[in-house]
Amino acid sequence: MFNTEDISSVRKALDMPKNVVIFSHRNPDGDAIGSSLALYNILKKKNHKVTVIFPSEFPDNFSWMPGSEKTLIYDIDPDEAVSEIKPAEIIFCLDFNSLERIDKMAKSVEESDAMKIMIDHHQDPEPFMDIMFSDPTASSTCELVYGLLEELDWLDLLDIDLANCLYTGILTDTGSFRHATTAKVFEIVADLKRRGLEDYRVNDMIFNSMEVKNLRLLGHALLNRMEIIPEYKAGIIHLTRQDYEDFNIERGDTEGIVNYILTLKGIQLAAFVTEQPKIVKISLRSKYDINVQALARENFNGGGHINAAGGYTFVSLDKALDRLRKVIPKYVGNAATIDR
Ligand code: 5GP
Ligand code: MN
Repeated sequence: MFNTEDISSVRKALDMPKNVVIFSHRNPDGDAIGSSLALYNILKKKNHKVTVIFPSEFPDNFSWMPGSEKTLIYDIDPDEAVSEIKPAEIIFCLDFNSLERIDKMAKSVEESDAMKIMIDHHQDPEPFMDIMFSDPTASSTCELVYGLLEELDWLDLLDIDLANCLYTGILTDTGSFRHATTAKVFEIVADLKRRGLEDYRVNDMIFNSMEVKNLRLLGHALLNRMEIIPEYKAGIIHLTRQDYEDFNIERGDTEGIVNYILTLKGIQLAAFVTEQPKIVKISLRSKYDINVQALARENFNGGGHINAAGGYTFVSLDKALDRLRKVIPKYVGNAATIDR
């Protein structure tokens, strides 16, 4: 996955202090933030000038992460973000593989003549980079950043802060070590622990950060907004604009709701559909070989992983739900071998 030629190009590029910009995707999650800040902190140690840019804000439960206070948010500060991209000599794109996922910043990245390096674990990468470290079998982008540090012989720079960042992405993208785990994942985490990883604290900060309104919203979603389609082993939860107002839902507040559907016995496909100001967003989760990445890609302009994907549509909430109900059988049908 890391070929020698690419590694030596990266090593050479990072040999002298450079102007580096690190991007990750809209609505950055634990892996996007963890991988970006891990790379940020390590490149700072190597005396590079580094800026991390996210298209939109990140949830509060990641604000403890070292370097997060220095990140630029395009939605808040577009001019400053663009002015940082212009002088960049190296651009890293972490945890996404199509420029569409960084919205309006895509143009600046395309126009930049910086060396562009992608580190990502999603399916079907678009070839928009000079160097692509793409491995859809990896648990997380954080796993790949660890791999890159290993290849560059930089692991001795891995301190507690870096360990906490890398662990965050592995933890969140594996659903707390429930899926996409490999021997390699546990080996990396063991190494992070040896280097001082504060896993107990990290778990506490990420997961025990609910507000009362979050639990009330979860109650509402499960009681009033959940629909089960037993014949297709599927469940759908949707939230309306009105729900957003009634529960004062802000960015990040709906995180994780989709996973509750999969805790039902016999349910293997979960969809969480939300009515946003301009789009209807669809979040999908599945088990075994039910391919929600294909569902998202073929019906909702989206993508992701086989068991966790997402997309969006411009049609109304009702129409989006109808389309979803209509297409679900096709994807569950293909995976009819599962009997549980
Ligand atoms: P989530 O449901 O947590 O928002 O996203 C789960 C996964 O689906 C993400 O890791 C990402 O890979 C993918 N995903 C979510 N939304 C989109 C989207 O709009 N477009 C694409 N290409 N992938 C998405
Ligand atoms: Mn990821």
